[in-house]
Amino acid sequence: MSFTLRVRWTLIADRFPEPWRACARCGAQRPFRCSGKFRLNANGRRLDAWLVYKCSACDDTWNHTLFERRNAHDIDVDLLSALESNDPKLARRCAFDVIALRRNTSRVEEFANVAVRKERLDGSGHAPTRLEIVLAAPDPVSLRLDRLLATELGLSRSRMAALADRARIRTTGKLNRAVRDGLLVEIELDGDSAAEAILRNALPE
Ligand SMILES: [Zn+2]
Repeated sequence: MSFTLRVRWTLIADRFPEPWRACARCGAQRPFRCSGKFRLNANGRRLDAWLVYKCSACDDTWNHTLFERRNAHDIDVDLLSALESNDPKLARRCAFDVIALRRNTSRVEEFANVAVRKERLDGSGHAPTRLEIVLAAPDPVSLRLDRLLATELGLSRSRMAALADRARIRTTGKLNRAVRDGLLVEIELDGDSAAEAILRNALPE
């Protein structure tokens, strides 16, 4: 009889990607930080919208273009009110849109640091012999799946590789690729000497 411990890990990126720009005030290339504020400009019926960034050294601003000269009638009412109220959810979505940032600047620094919120879904009572992890990543994160598992489960790289070699880890993604929202990971722990520690690490503290 095998018992499965099912958990969900939600990955929250704790730092926005930072575009590097030549800062006019510093006279050097600097990383710019997202201010969380939008700027809107109306020119007749045409609207421009930017997400405001600040130089990490001197606070000089750079406006990341979201759209330009768009007819006000074509803009969704909810989007417009979110822009006007500096809606944090919209700011977060725009700040993690690395593809859009790369259109405006050649270098964007991404950060792999994430906070992992762990929850038990089911599987209490018996000593589980399988671990199933459901990964939720509401923001895009540039963190490899094998690194996440090694760090969070307390496994060395060689232990990770050994588990993968013996097909004791199965995943709907790829171990050497970035974590995606909705990935599933299954780890067979039957007869594993470190099973208890791994299961403990999979759960909230
Ligand atoms: Zn500067």
